[in-house]
Amino acid sequence: MKDIRALKKEELQDFFLSHGEKAFRANQVYEWLWTKGAHSFDQMTNLSKETRQLLAEHFVINHIKVDTMQRSEDGTIKNAVRLHDGLYVESVLIPTDTRITACVSSQVGCSLNCSFCATARLKRMRNLSPDEIFDQVLTIDQQSRLYYGRPLRNIVFMGMGEPLMNYPNVIKAIERITSEKEGLGFSPKRITVSTSGVSKLIRKMADDKVKFKLAVSLHSAIEETRNKIMPWTVNFPLAELRQALQYWYQQTKSRITYEYVVWKGINDAPKDVDALVAFCRFAPCKVNLIEYNPIDDGLFEQADEKALLLYKRKLEEAGITTTIRYSRGKDIDAACGQLANKQ
Ligand code: SAH
Repeated sequence: MKDIRALKKEELQDFFLSHGEKAFRANQVYEWLWTKGAHSFDQMTNLSKETRQLLAEHFVINHIKVDTMQRSEDGTIKNAVRLHDGLYVESVLIPTDTRITACVSSQVGCSLNCSFCATARLKRMRNLSPDEIFDQVLTIDQQSRLYYGRPLRNIVFMGMGEPLMNYPNVIKAIERITSEKEGLGFSPKRITVSTSGVSKLIRKMADDKVKFKLAVSLHSAIEETRNKIMPWTVNFPLAELRQALQYWYQQTKSRITYEYVVWKGINDAPKDVDALVAFCRFAPCKVNLIEYNPIDDGLFEQADEKALLLYKRKLEEAGITTTIRYSRGKDIDAACGQLANKQ
């Protein structure tokens, strides 16, 4: 049976009209689905029993289910989420003193092959639908209110998958998450989509004049090094990425965040630092130096503090805001690059 959340509003109106009901029922149903996050027709209490019955005869609501929830000693919560077809993804709630952030997945597995990332080992099974992405946000907002007494504040697309390889569905999900009237009313300024650097789609986002923020997993501004640790980038040269990012800034005036892990013997030399500083000059940006989370194979090792501090000093001398980010939720494999459906 068809999932009702795959229907456009007009299609739902047509459905009601062709079944002898008023078109405005579609508004009511839309509100239940996207503002209140209803997961069953029985919840739609301003519809008559007959109308609810009619819907149940024609549609399903394929919502996600939290299969297991793990809580880290630092308060981070990781959800193993079961999809309607039995596949799993993970999503994470990250609390700090001032705000709660949701880290959501966009694909089951990932089609890219970054050699330092646990998700890359899973292979891509399929894209998530807009409502599967929406449901992760809704779930974390509920958990945030329940366990931390406040609503979710920020959303980052930094879970499993490459969001830009599932661009249409990610955009549809964000539309529902941000819509005031037919959605959760979230500010797009508090949403960050992270990409490993698919230039063509960065340009598309710029053309679409999206209102959310962009983060790029750069990890090296030297082609050879980047090709080695992110093998798929062989077909996505840095020069193209740089041009796409310049275009992004021209069109959106939104500052780019670079995510950057520093590894021993890979990108911890002064020439790596200089290359990043030079790369950063092309468009206004800030840099997050992220702590490496080991993923069992011992191939990569976090660089010494000294290298991190050299990056920070040189970047700041060039006027670039730089933050060193220590991992959250490591004890439950919930940190960056650790999402791998281990449960
Ligand atoms: N595919 C998108 C979304 C995933 S974001 C992207 O690459 O941006 C996950 C972030 O964690 C990325 O910046 C990724 O490079 C980083 N990451 C992956 N494995 C990691 C690890 N083992 N330790 C720290 N960060 C890692």
